[in-house]
This record gives sequence, C-alpha cells and structure tokens, in this order.
Amino acid sequence: MHKIWAQLPTSLPVTPSPVLDFKFAALPADPPAHPPGNATASALARTLKPVRNPRLRGLQCLRCDALYPVTLTHDGCPACKRAGFHVALRASYLPDLTEKPDAIPMPYAPGFTLGEGHTPMQELPELARHFDVARLGLKDESSNPTGSHKDRMTAVGVAQALDFGAHTLVLASSGNAAVSAAHYAWAAGLRCEVATYEGMPATYARQLDALGARRYEFADNAGRWAFVRERSQYPGYFALTNYRLPALGSAPLAIEGYKTIAPECVADAGLPDHIVIPTARGDLAWGIYAGFRDLLAAGRIPRLPRLWLVEPFPRLARVFAGGAINGSYPGHTAQFSTAGATVTYLQWQAAAATGGGAVVVGDDEARAARRLLTAAGVSAELCAAGGLAALRQLRETNAVAADAHVVLMLTANASSDPSWPDPAV
Ligand SMILES: [Zn+2]
Repeated sequence: MHKIWAQLPTSLPVTPSPVLDFKFAALPADPPAHPPGNATASALARTLKPVRNPRLRGLQCLRCDALYPVTLTHDGCPACKRAGFHVALRASYLPDLTEKPDAIPMPYAPGFTLGEGHTPMQELPELARHFDVARLGLKDESSNPTGSHKDRMTAVGVAQALDFGAHTLVLASSGNAAVSAAHYAWAAGLRCEVATYEGMPATYARQLDALGARRYEFADNAGRWAFVRERSQYPGYFALTNYRLPALGSAPLAIEGYKTIAPECVADAGLPDHIVIPTARGDLAWGIYAGFRDLLAAGRIPRLPRLWLVEPFPRLARVFAGGAINGSYPGHTAQFSTAGATVTYLQWQAAAATGGGAVVVGDDEARAARRLLTAAGVSAELCAAGGLAALRQLRETNAVAADAHVVLMLTANASSDPSWPDPAV
C-alpha cells in the first residue's frame, strides 16, 4: 500500500526565507494543578482501554516516506524539514494478510467512542437541479455527538491519549474542535486545556467551562500554537491540534478518524465524482483523501473522487498559483471555522493528488448559499454553506460537469456559528 502513497508529487515551491518556528525564550512556569476530572468516566475509560491495531507500524512522512515511531508529539518529518519542507506524518500499517482484510485500517480497534460517525447522507435533488449537477449529497457531520466533524478526530485522539497514559488533552481552537475535545476529555476522565482567541464566542466558552476545560486566551495563532507546543513538552500532555509554524496539521493518528467518511459515502450513495470540503489547514480533507486512498489500494473503488478545498480567502489557491507553501496568507472572514493564514502540505496533497484544487468563496457568496440551504431545510455553519457557493464556481469553469455526482461536507450546522443569523439583505 505504501508504494501507492509514494507515487504522489513531491515538488513544491518554498519561500527562501520561511517563517521561523516560534520559540519561547524560556519555558513558562509548570502547568497548574487541575481539579480531578470526571471520576466515573475515568473509571469507565480505564475499563474500556483502547486496543492499538497490531499492524500500526509507525508514522510515515507524506513526502519522503521515512518511517518514525508513534509518539505523543507531532513535529513532522525532520528529514524534509532539513530540505526546507514542513511536512506532516501519517499512520502507516503493515499489510493485512488475513482472509477478510480491513479496507480502512484504523489506529485503534476498539477505540474510544461517544457514537461519532455514520452520519447521514442527505440527497438534495432540488439544489442539484439549481446547480445543474446530476446528484448532490450532503454529508451531515452536524449529527456527530458534539455537532461537528471534529468528533471523529477527537475520538481517535482520546484513544491515543489513553493508550499512551496521557492525562491532559491540549489544543488550539476557538470553536468546534474545542467543544469536541472538552466533551470527549470529560467523558474519558482526561483533563483538557484549550488555547483560544481573545473573545471566544460565548456559546463555545460556556460549554468549555461547564465541562471543566481550562481556557487560555491569545491574540493570534502564533501565541496559541506556542502555548500548545510548550505544554506538549510536559509528560502526560497530548497536543491534539497543530502547534507548529509553518503549520503541519493535527495529531497524525487522530486525523485517521476522518478516514471512515470515505466508506460511509460509498455505502450510502455510491462513489462520488467530487467532494467539496470547507478547509482551514486540511485535516478533514486529508483524512477523507486517505480513506478513499485506502479503498483504492484495497481494490474497493476504481478511482479517487476529486477533492475541492474551499477557503474564505486565497491561501491554498495562491500556493497552486506558485506561492510558497510555508508562506503567510492572512485575511479576514466571517467564516469562523476556516479562518487562519497558513497552508499545510496535508491540504495541498489532498487537493493535488486527487486532481482537485482550491476554491475561494467570500462571505457574501457563502451567505447567499446559506439562504438557499436554509430554504431547503438545511442549517449550515457559514463555511459549510461556502461549499455550495464553491459548486457554482466549479460548474461555471466546468471543473464539475453537468452529469457529476457531488458531495458537500456539512461540517457543522448554524447553531453555534457566531456569524449566525446572517444580516438581512
Ligand atoms: Zn519527509
């Protein structure tokens, strides 16, 4: 299987003066003592300790295939870093030679679960006609336990934390990932620390406080990631999300949690031609890509769907136009969940290796698309509605043909979206 992975393109422009990793002059004081977590849940978690897949052989570089051991830290590939590329690692498995091989190997089986996954695929025939495509499906990730796709990643992250004896999940998020981590950590008897932006929306902050997660506010991503990185150096801390600049992506085993979206799509609606994915740093897009890649390698599907990564202002689009992948591409947006100035190798690979690309959707376009979704009975966070607006662009350029089967990823609904309700037009 890994040979197929190795066929991916490896040439990419990098800036001659890359953004340097943020470094503390000195480590801050030891982390504070926490109140005890959820004792009942903690006992439950101990009795349901996740079982690591015996075929998980390590972590492998997305670019050069070098193999490394699985650890609680995720600092990317040192060999590629020396060559100027900041590249994440992925889970690597030994071949499954049993009679009924797993098409989608996962790091833990059984893992830790609150019932995430197996989300509904909703067909939208009227919107399909409106956008002139043969089929339009909506993969409704808002039906996950805490209301977003993030639960898939958090579940595997918690399994790894329990496996490695970690006591605290630490992450940078001001939205869905934070809520997901706080819930899952509470249920597993783990502690949770969240580096947020100043002025985290109250709807998220209330949930974190109620679940005993600690909040630390920072003015920008560099500060948030530096905090998470510092914490990750203490024993027992497991950083769920990215903490590097240039960005690498979230914890590699945790990202595997998104792979199951691929077989669910195929089982519910057949193999789509295109999947449209709201994207910040591309964990979700890469996980979906990896799932379909596994299915292809197992001979379960004949081709990959093309993945279109939707962003609120040009970042990945600028990299595809020749910009440096480790550059900074700042912008302002109301699409809260896909903000940020960075591009990762993960997201570039998900788009490039499937013949997809980047689609830029501004806030007004996303709001117009959200009105269409609302009229169709669908509640969507703004960036997810942006996926529908992206489809219009893709039809206009004929990147998506009229006979195509398209799936939109509904990452979350509007209920916690700070940009909801939209201003009247
Ligand atoms: Zn490498």
